[in-house]
Amino acid sequence: MLINEDAVINWLDRSTREWAEEHFQGMPLGGVWCPEGQGFIVLKNDVKDLTLIRAVKHPLTIESLNGINNLLFELGYSYSEDGVLWDDAPNNDEEIEAIVTSHKQTVVDSWKCECGNPLKKIDIKEVYPIFIEKQQDADGSYYEDWNYQLDCPCGKGIDMGPHDFQIMHGIKRFHMYSQPQKSGMPNKILRGLTRQEICDFDKEGKHTFIVLGKSQDDKKIPPWMWGVVAIDSAYEDDNGIQ
Ligand SMILES: [Zn+2]
Repeated sequence: MLINEDAVINWLDRSTREWAEEHFQGMPLGGVWCPEGQGFIVLKNDVKDLTLIRAVKHPLTIESLNGINNLLFELGYSYSEDGVLWDDAPNNDEEIEAIVTSHKQTVVDSWKCECGNPLKKIDIKEVYPIFIEKQQDADGSYYEDWNYQLDCPCGKGIDMGPHDFQIMHGIKRFHMYSQPQKSGMPNKILRGLTRQEICDFDKEGKHTFIVLGKSQDDKKIPPWMWGVVAIDSAYEDDNGIQ
């Protein structure tokens, strides 16, 4: 939900204030803040300078923004709404979805390497998820830590979590994995299929389906691809990705 009525925040509450002080200080220059369910995006221009760049014209969002304006004043930040792009309040679920997607894109556009290169421009042709380590939750359960390693042309390596990668490159690219093979064979490029593709490919009979488990031929599979029907996309002309 874009504007969550349960998510109305008392911005001058002491704990909120303490949280905000730390959060705004830790935000990198050029970074954006897009709190879930609030319908706005704020950009950090300078050490003590924040600008509203997008917001939904909705009473709850406006109320939040007034609260933030007061909070930032108290914290010694300058805050401006000049040049903000206002989104009309959505009338239905489709319009909500469109605004959420568009806001996400604004956030993605703000992600840059130290050299200024937008992360979205970095070539990901050979970039696939890499298993890092097994981690333990506070409740004792285990989960797997995976990431993507991007190489900026400036020479800097950038680690990106799966969630951010999915937002940046979409669900289809997110469901691709380069699986190492035994004895010097080239990697299998596994690509998870949509339901529609499974139906189409089944009719064509050209591809061998692989139902992915937690591992495949003794090699780990990223958790978000467990239970997915995949093919070896090395046999696709275009890897199925534009
Ligand atoms: Zn760079």
